Amino acid sequence: MASLGDDLLRVVNQLQDLVFNTIGSDSLDLPQIVVVGSQSAGKSSVLENIVGRDFLPRGSGIVTRRPLILQLINVDEDESEPDTNAAYRNASAARRSEWAEFHHIPGRRFTDFGDVKREIESETSRVAGNNKGINRQPINLKVYSPYVLNLTLVDLPGLTKVPIGDQPADIEKQTRTLISEFIAKPNSIILAVSPANVDIVNSEALKLARHVDPLGRRTVGVLTKVDLMDHGTNALDILSGRVYPLKLGFIGVVNRSQHDIQGNKPMEEALKAENEFFRHHPAYRNIATRCGTHFLAKTLNQTLMTHIRERLPDIKARLNTLMGQTQQELASYGDMHFSGKEHRGSMILQLMTKFASGFISSIDGTSTEISTKELSGGARIYYIFNSVFGSALETIDPTSNLSALDIRTAIRNSTGPRPSLFVPEMAFDLLVKPQIKLLEIPSQRCVELVYEELIKICHTCGSTELSRYPRLQAKLIEVVSDLLRERLGPASSYVESLISIQRAYINTNHPNFLGAAAAMSHVVSNKQDKERKRLIQEERERRERRRMKELGEANGAETPDDNEDAGTEKGEAGPARKQIAKGSRSMSPAVRENGTGSLTAAVNGRSASPSRPGPGGARDTFLTYFFGKDGASPPGGAGAPSSLPRHVSQSVEPSFSQSIRSREEKHRPALSSSLIREPETPITGEFGAVTPFSENTEPALTDREAMETELIRALISSYFNIVRESIADQVPKAVMHLLVNHSKDVVQNRLVSELYKEALFEELLYEDDAVKKEREKCEKLLQTYREAAKIIGEVL
Ligand code: GDP
Ligand code: MG
Repeated sequence: MASLGDDLLRVVNQLQDLVFNTIGSDSLDLPQIVVVGSQSAGKSSVLENIVGRDFLPRGSGIVTRRPLILQLINVDEDESEPDTNAAYRNASAARRSEWAEFHHIPGRRFTDFGDVKREIESETSRVAGNNKGINRQPINLKVYSPYVLNLTLVDLPGLTKVPIGDQPADIEKQTRTLISEFIAKPNSIILAVSPANVDIVNSEALKLARHVDPLGRRTVGVLTKVDLMDHGTNALDILSGRVYPLKLGFIGVVNRSQHDIQGNKPMEEALKAENEFFRHHPAYRNIATRCGTHFLAKTLNQTLMTHIRERLPDIKARLNTLMGQTQQELASYGDMHFSGKEHRGSMILQLMTKFASGFISSIDGTSTEISTKELSGGARIYYIFNSVFGSALETIDPTSNLSALDIRTAIRNSTGPRPSLFVPEMAFDLLVKPQIKLLEIPSQRCVELVYEELIKICHTCGSTELSRYPRLQAKLIEVVSDLLRERLGPASSYVESLISIQRAYINTNHPNFLGAAAAMSHVVSNKQDKERKRLIQEERERRERRRMKELGEANGAETPDDNEDAGTEKGEAGPARKQIAKGSRSMSPAVRENGTGSLTAAVNGRSASPSRPGPGGARDTFLTYFFGKDGASPPGGAGAPSSLPRHVSQSVEPSFSQSIRSREEKHRPALSSSLIREPETPITGEFGAVTPFSENTEPALTDREAMETELIRALISSYFNIVRESIADQVPKAVMHLLVNHSKDVVQNRLVSELYKEALFEELLYEDDAVKKEREKCEKLLQTYREAAKIIGEVL
């Protein structure tokens, strides 16, 4: 047989099988064979000879007017219909199971290749017209046969110079472009067909081929019509490669002449005649073996084989990868060869242990299957602690739900029938406790989130092996879920306790607690500088005036604008007061530095100079000013003053008390307008002499109340921050200890004690059907790959 060789066919068939059926989408990717050349050079004839079939329209003038993409598809002999052989006109007896199909007529099998030829002609006319026009829209023809390679061949219209018939003026350019598109593909083998009876230097085929394949690597030169050369001339120089270099060489052929075609000369006969021609021709007889269609087919065989060999290492590597992957997948289903009841226990124990350690390693972050897409396991828990819980705590505003009115009411209630003397500490206590409660909701949410995360982990920590036993897997998850649920209670109530503990004792002695003094400073520092400056200026003026008065009246302690001090001073002057007064004096340098020293003096009607203790020393104290002049009761009489001395000893305090004082005296607007908005309650009594009775009906918060409210707010915020910090620290620790670590510690034992029971084994080891099938498929695939590898080994 002159067409592509049987050996190649066999190997390619095996490989093709392997590639299509085992490797899948990948293929041997055999090259396309494209014939190019000028019109009537003999392209279609050459193509026919290669295929070994007689089905292409040939003739003089333009015959091929659309690209013909001919796909040869190898089929098993028994795939064909048994009674189709009779329809062949040119078929030999052996070729009974061949048929052709056109893409434009899907489903219709052409068993007569004469019909194929006619269909090509009519389909060409349908699209390209009846009169010489060409069309770039290809005709797709598939030939199914046990005797062909899975190969694509392309027949193209020939190049012409002069437009004839319907042809447009640029017919040459159009054809050239069309041909170039097909031969430009690096995977195409170019059959550059040149007729021997035309000078090779005029060969359009070689010109085109050289353009896309300048080194002549994939171009086969085909010299047709060697029989039609002028007498006395021969193509020896060309055929021996001396005229035009091509790696794959030039091959001379003799196709059937037009006369032969019209006479229906069988292909076999024509090939025999060709053979005779070369063997007996005086010029070619020495190279006869390298001439003719047979040799052309052989050359193409070799070229294809080389191509396949080049592809083999890739295919082999791919096959190895697939084998490795399949082996791995198979291993993931676990050892299939456990059998007998005695092995079931250890099997379950092994799966259980794997599950437990998967659970633990997910939490610890040592799992081998760590996702890069989202946080999981332990990292999620960390995220809950730090980002979710942390920011939930951060966003709590400890005083936003407390109105000034609430605070004032608390202050009033906590002082009882008596006005408050010092910082309304009881009110602070009363108010801060419910605020601490605000921490409970996020804390409990934190516990829940971690619990939910652990549940999620136990659902995802199973292996493929485990998925083979869905019932065992479900049971394992159930037991771990139960364990986690069990731990949720203790963890949650411990967290509840943590909050209660914080509420049980308000430790105002905490080193980080702001304290009344700093709170006051804080409040004061919020005040506008402008106002402060104005105050200072006013006090300075007053002091001046007073000094003048003092000078005049010798011992006149009271100035008109200080008259509320009168009388109140008389009852005071206990030892405690003096003690505090001393503290105050010792600080006055600092006070002066603040520029408020003069203020103290002015407000008190005294000089602030520490060097002047004098008889009025007790009245000099800032306490007098801050706590009011009602101070008939000594500090010990106040509700809970124990922590006060500590705070008042801070250097910032005096300036604060003074400023309060001065503002009270002057009825200045309160610090915060929002604080004095409540008009309904007249504020008086508590402040004793500070507020005259005549002002009983004043609707808003007094300056002092505003200040106290502000102060309480500052204290609550400060204390709340201490508690918040502590809770932010303790809750995660508690959750880790009581919920996470505990579950990790006991999970293995719990699983064993719950599930390692002889009676359960049967049920637990029920194998999932789908997985079973999957595994069997996997085993089969691996077997196929092994066989494929053997085939490749043989070819190489
Ligand atoms: P295409 O246009 O290149 O496809 O050329 P065809 O295959 O249709 O052939 C054109 C004409 O040349 C046909 O009549 C063929 O019979 C004839 N022909 C092709 N090759 C040879 C050959 O080697 N010898 C002879 N005598 N005629 C040939
Ligand atoms: Mg043709």
